[in-house]
Amino acid sequence: MIQNTKFFLNEFKDKVVLITGGNGQIGQDIVKYYLHCEAVVINLDIEEPTHAWQSIDEKKDKLEYFIKCDITNKDSVVQSIESVIDKFVNIDILINSAGISVFSPFEERTCEEFTHVFDVNIKGMFLVCQKIIQKMLKQENKGVILNLGSIYGHTIADQRIYGDSGRNSPEIYAITKSGVTQFTKYLARYYGKDGIRVNCISPGGIFANQANFFVKNYEYKTPLGRMGNPEDLIGGVAFLTSSMSIYVTGQDLIIDGGFCLGS
Ligand code: NAD
Repeated sequence: MIQNTKFFLNEFKDKVVLITGGNGQIGQDIVKYYLHCEAVVINLDIEEPTHAWQSIDEKKDKLEYFIKCDITNKDSVVQSIESVIDKFVNIDILINSAGISVFSPFEERTCEEFTHVFDVNIKGMFLVCQKIIQKMLKQENKGVILNLGSIYGHTIADQRIYGDSGRNSPEIYAITKSGVTQFTKYLARYYGKDGIRVNCISPGGIFANQANFFVKNYEYKTPLGRMGNPEDLIGGVAFLTSSMSIYVTGQDLIIDGGFCLGS
C-alpha cells in the first residue's frame, strides 16, 4: 500500500502508463503510485483484477483501465495494444511487471514448465516491447520503458534458505531474469538514437507472509536486515521513469537491501 506521498511527481499527471501484470503484488503498488500522481494507467493482465477497473471501451474521465491480455500470445498482445493506440495519443511509460516462476524440483522440471516461464518472462516482454516501441517511435514524446528483473538475474539462489518449503527459486527464473537485464541493455543501445530510454529494476525478495524460517534466513543474508516490500521499489520506479533520469539508459537498479552483496 502506498503510504508515502513524498515521491509525488507532478510530471506524471496526465501521462499514459501501460503496465503488464498490474494485478500482482508489486504491480498493484506501481499502479497505485501512478494513479496517486494522476497518471492514466492501463493494466494488461491475464487475470481479472480484484476491484472494478474500467474497460477501455468505456473510456470517459477515469484514470485506470484494465485489458485482459495474455502476453505470451501475440494476437492477444497486438489486439490489446491496438485498442489502446486508438484511444491515446501517446504511451509515455511502459512498465513490464508481469512475471512468473515455477516450484517443482529441478529433477522433475517439465519442458512445459520451463517453456511457460520463458514465454511469460521473456517472450511476453519481447512482444509487448515490440508493439509499444512501434507506437513510441511515431510519438513526439518518445517514452520510457522499465522492466522488472530480479536479484536472481544477478546472484544464484542459495537453496539452503528455502528449507523444505517447496518454494525454491528455480534455474529458469534465474535464466529469464538475467535475460531481462540483457534485453534491457540491448533495447537501450538499439533505441538510444530514437530517444527511447530503457531501464530495469531488480528487486530482492518481497515479504508475502512466507514461512518464518525462510524470512529469518533471508533477513540474515540481507545487510539491511529485512525483506523488501513493494513500496521500497517506488523511488526507483519514479526515478527511472521521470525526467530525473533523463541521461540514464540501459541500467539495472538492484533494490534489495544489499542482498546481492553476498554473505
Ligand atoms: P505477482 O506474481 O504478484 O504478479 C504477476 C502478475 O503477472 C499477476 O498479476 C499475473 O496475473 C500476471 N501474469 C502472469 N502471467 C501473465 C500473462 N501470461 N499475461 C499477462 N499477465 C500475466 O508478481 P509481483 O510480485 O507483482 O512481481 C512483479 C515482477 O517483479 C515480476 O516480474 C517478478 O518476477 C519480479 N520480482 C518479484 C519479486 C517478489 O518477491 N515479488 C522479487 C523480484 C522480482
